[in-house]
Amino acid sequence: MARYTGPVCKLCRREGVKLFLKGDKCLTKCTLERRNTRPGQHGASRARKESGYAKQLREKQRVRRTYGVLERQFVKHFGAAANRPGKTSENLLQILEMRLDNLVYRLGLADSRAQARQLVNHGHFAVNGRKTDIPSFIAKPNDVITVRERSKGLEYFKARALMLAQKGVPTWLSLNTNELSGRVITIPSRADLELPFDEQMVVEYYQR
Ligand code: SF4
Repeated sequence: MARYTGPVCKLCRREGVKLFLKGDKCLTKCTLERRNTRPGQHGASRARKESGYAKQLREKQRVRRTYGVLERQFVKHFGAAANRPGKTSENLLQILEMRLDNLVYRLGLADSRAQARQLVNHGHFAVNGRKTDIPSFIAKPNDVITVRERSKGLEYFKARALMLAQKGVPTWLSLNTNELSGRVITIPSRADLELPFDEQMVVEYYQR
């Protein structure tokens, strides 16, 4: 499955904001804090005034890169969001949040969405008892995400089990640290998602 494999700090420098693509590592040692310039030869030159289109594009890229989704998949998610009743902007964030790789990250079973994606790809998780190795799988309320029995013995998950006791999960998820499993209680509302995005600009970008 296609994914971005280049340097991730470069993406934060391009967007000019911390996207937390390395998970907890971003809290202690951040490239952007040391070098807040756009990547490339002319990155340090004075920033030009952004047009309305450029602002919409940057916001779309911020959202897409935060969730580690390539453009084609992002467009699919946008299409699904537009087809649902309600606000497309909120629907889009809800779809992104209900992706299996994001849920694994939100439950604290991985340090970053990129790591979560790899763990899912490697077949370490089951949804409602069935092995699921598709990071873009969209979960529903009451779905239960579990580390598979054969994976629980791995050193990585043994260490996670110890760490999880100190980690909190969002209110719309519940976590069973003993079982290494989590349940989706409900689809999060916009207020539940403390995200610094102006998602309406993403809608305007695709509907221009
Ligand atoms: Fe972005 Fe994290 Fe790199 Fe900082 S350390 S630039 S937040 S990926």
